[in-house]
Amino acid sequence: LVDNLAKQKIILSDQVISAMRSVDRAHFAKNNPYEDAPQYIGYGATISAPHMHGYALEGLRDYLKPGMRVLDVGSGSGYLTACMAAMVGANGRAVGIDHISELVETSKSALSQYYPDWINNNNIHMVIGDGRNGYPPDAPYDCIHVGAASPGEPTTLLSQLKSPGRMFIPVGKYSQQIVVYEKDSNGTVKQKKLMGVAYVPLTNEGDQRDFF
Ligand code: SAH
Repeated sequence: LVDNLAKQKIILSDQVISAMRSVDRAHFAKNNPYEDAPQYIGYGATISAPHMHGYALEGLRDYLKPGMRVLDVGSGSGYLTACMAAMVGANGRAVGIDHISELVETSKSALSQYYPDWINNNNIHMVIGDGRNGYPPDAPYDCIHVGAASPGEPTTLLSQLKSPGRMFIPVGKYSQQIVVYEKDSNGTVKQKKLMGVAYVPLTNEGDQRDFF
């Protein structure tokens, strides 16, 4: 799977290729883990397609350097948070937040089983909560990945980005685009639209549970 993503030039850098190689998607997705497609993981959530994880990690690569502190909003399966933890390494910290407690517990038990050092050393921290508010205790972050679509500009999350810092997030209600927000060292934010996508929305927990 990782070789194919590299062959298709979706992932280009050694950092991303070795992070994706070191985290086995099968630990986080029971069904067809090595297919390049999203998979349903319950409670209205899907683990994103590997190529989207690849684009996200490449897009955030400069802000996933060893020792950095990063946030994954809508962490779902926990797979991408684990890849981010692999990139920031033993002196870094990856925080994953999801509002569905069952998903957070499942991701935590996979991490404790297969990557116990990251959990024990606090390199990875999985939190239950509304990710639209980010996670203030560890803010500001070098980068923020958002795995569910924001209806509009994610102001609260932008306020939790370092200067400089970068965010990768799907934005839009009906038609969505990946937007990369870049905060420069003066705190000025610029945005770049990358591609059209279809992510599940950032919602209220109750709405997500009622719907599915
Ligand atoms: N990156 C994850 C994507 C999971 S799908 C993965 O690849 O596994 C999107 C996730 O966003 C779901 O797990 C859903 O529960 C979560 N989500 C939606 N709205 C949220 C909110 N307001 N706060 C936190 N998580 C949210």
